[in-house]
Amino acid sequence: MDNKGSKKHFVAVFGGAVAGSEVVNQLTVQGIHCVVFDQNILPHGKIEDGLPKWHSKQRDTEESHINERLNHPLVQFVPQCKLGRDISFQELMQWNFSAVVLATGAWKDRSLPILDIDNYTGKGLYYQNPFVYWYNHKHEPAFTGKEFEIKDDAIVIGGGLASLDVAKILMMEMVTAKLKQRGIVVSLFEMNHGIHKVLAKQNLGLDDLGIKGCTLYYRRRDEDMPLSHLAADTPEHIARAKLTRQKILNNYMNKFLFRFQPCMAPVDKVTENERLTGIVFRRTDADEKKCVEIPGSEITVNTPLVISSIGSLPEPIEGITSSNSTFKIESEVSCKLIGYENVFIVGNAVTGKGNIHDSSHHAKQISQWMLEHFLINRQPLTEETIVDIMNRVKQLQEQKGYNGNYSDWAKIHTPIRLEQLGESL
Ligand SMILES: Cc1cc2nc3c(=O)[nH]c(=O)nc-3n(C[C@H](O)[C@H](O)[C@H](O)COP(=O)(O)OP(=O)(O)OC[C@H]3O[C@@H](n4cnc5c(N)ncnc54)[C@H](O)[C@@H]3O)c2cc1C
Repeated sequence: MDNKGSKKHFVAVFGGAVAGSEVVNQLTVQGIHCVVFDQNILPHGKIEDGLPKWHSKQRDTEESHINERLNHPLVQFVPQCKLGRDISFQELMQWNFSAVVLATGAWKDRSLPILDIDNYTGKGLYYQNPFVYWYNHKHEPAFTGKEFEIKDDAIVIGGGLASLDVAKILMMEMVTAKLKQRGIVVSLFEMNHGIHKVLAKQNLGLDDLGIKGCTLYYRRRDEDMPLSHLAADTPEHIARAKLTRQKILNNYMNKFLFRFQPCMAPVDKVTENERLTGIVFRRTDADEKKCVEIPGSEITVNTPLVISSIGSLPEPIEGITSSNSTFKIESEVSCKLIGYENVFIVGNAVTGKGNIHDSSHHAKQISQWMLEHFLINRQPLTEETIVDIMNRVKQLQEQKGYNGNYSDWAKIHTPIRLEQLGESL
């Protein structure tokens, strides 16, 4: 499809991060105008607020890709505009965009499967997404977000890569603080090479610092952890994938000194004085296919802090039907929202995979489908509709103080980095 130079179509993209910016990339190459709305000041999504800040080089590379794509003459950006809050879905549909793409990611932590446990959020229980957000931004002088308190002997419940990162954060924060009390200042980037190395250099162990360390609980075995994307389609591939998963976990544990408990499913809570003080686990009989809880095998683990990292789901958007926090799509080929001929969903919001490559690849695939099977047959917008859309966009941009220069906006609003505060890489 070649729409170069034409003003036929205007596409609204909600969420401008990895997936949203890939959609913009695919569409602008074909001369299609895009309006990117993001709930945040900058559209960097989980690259900024999820990927832990020790990945500073990867973060900067990914963010500069996003910025390049949005800094395009065919793209309008609207910051701090959340679908469902600042624009309702019903109102959006009346703007008459050629198509709407939801690239809104997965920001809702999956709840622990324990009755009423969420009542203890902030009272002995944290969830991964706000915890990592705090970790990534807490060094910024202007940070005014929610503060999180690290405690020793914490429990992390999870099993994916993000849960290993949560355990790593806990360990690095505790060791850094204890070393600081002894007058030893170690940078995050030094810590990132391994707590074991930092401590060996000081001739110290966790015991010397009075740290017990945290424990990661997983309901299956180490070899079942979703830690690698290696194919598992033949017995050889399965064996290789299992080994790789074990290697990844062991590497993290050797470097960051946390413990691991496999085959433990959280089933109940222990509380005291309005705080969560422990979790009851039931042992499981698990292999690559099954994961069955063993009746009567309950174990109570007391802990001052539980961090749940059992996956992220798309946040529900008012006006859009979802079931079990998943948007209903017509088919995986088009990822069209059921009931709407021109609404598509891409990236983490639909793949359920917390992975940069998968989000980007999915967004590319769906954009190609939109171009080849939908936009090509879509009636061009009238000049009147285009003027109307542009007027509405300009009004929202003015409300947010955005003057249309994306490049300047990105420069001004990029948060202060640890490196700028004197942390050496
Ligand atoms: C702790 C952690 C570690 C990770 N480590 C890795 C790793 O090592 N390697 C890797 O490949 N991946 C990693 N990931 C995952 C990776 O960062 C994400 O999968 C990927 O960045 C998701 O991209 P996305 O564009 O699909 O979604 P997101 O980045 O979530 O983007 C969604 C965008 O939509 C915006 N938005 C959301 N709702 C609305 C709304 N209603 N209206 C308007 N805008 C909205 C958001 O502000 C955001 O900009 C990690 C994630 C975490 C949490």
